[in-house]
Amino acid sequence: MKKILNLCFEIEFYLKVAFFCTLFQQLFYWILHDTELNFVSQVILYWLVGSTSFYGIGLFIEKVIKKNDKLKQKFNIRTKKVKKQVFPSFKIKGFIFGEIKAFIAALIIISLASETHRGNSLPLNISWFLMRIFLADFCFYISHWLLHRKFLQKIHFKHHEFRDTSSFVAGYKSLPEYVIVTLTDLLPIFIFGYDINQLCAWSLIGNAYNLEGHSSLSIFFIPSNFHDLHHTCFKGNYGIQGFWDRVFNTLNTPIKKSGIMFPAAYLEKRWLYKKYKS
Ligand SMILES: [Zn+2]
Ligand SMILES: [Zn+2]
Repeated sequence: MKKILNLCFEIEFYLKVAFFCTLFQQLFYWILHDTELNFVSQVILYWLVGSTSFYGIGLFIEKVIKKNDKLKQKFNIRTKKVKKQVFPSFKIKGFIFGEIKAFIAALIIISLASETHRGNSLPLNISWFLMRIFLADFCFYISHWLLHRKFLQKIHFKHHEFRDTSSFVAGYKSLPEYVIVTLTDLLPIFIFGYDINQLCAWSLIGNAYNLEGHSSLSIFFIPSNFHDLHHTCFKGNYGIQGFWDRVFNTLNTPIKKSGIMFPAAYLEKRWLYKKYKS
């Protein structure tokens, strides 16, 4: 029974990502389907969606949610005590360098991958995003596990400067790590081609769960302290969430956040409570 509950918990994350990617894909499709986007406008659109969502969601978590003590306490998922750290402040040079990197990545993806229009069919888009998140989790697990081996660790140390994480640590990585992670994330795009609406939706939702995963809060996508534990312990939990770590036996068991936003964990808690009572 425990195995089934864990599986439900992990599938819930995949479904949530697939559902919200589809929702935003539909929105982009609705806005853009009558517009002929050339190469330059596609690059600019993809880059802008990625950058504005990264800073917008990150600032919302850090400056709105975390500044409200009640909300911060309500969403907090950290169980392990960590020494407070001063996070990197925004510097113009870092900001410009980050945006140049993101723009070049967008330029490379759009110019090298072939364009495939996948339309607005709901079943097709949901299946596509389910496949994407399942594969992305696997690819991230492998590349992240490799980044923790001795011969590659140096590349990854910059990201692990922070045990006490903040949302923006999500984007704090060395250039080689940025290249490795971006390439593994975009592998299906190079194989199957890109649809600009899907690409923008994927980038937006990817930023949302990545920023949330580093915020030490469980708000909507992140149902446990899974990645927070990875930063505080530097060992185990190499995937985006627990599925592949469970398969490969590298899971550092996280604490699940139950609540209305996380139904699988909520049902598990209720079921265990009932079992305990009877
Ligand atoms: Zn790591
Ligand atoms: Zn991290």
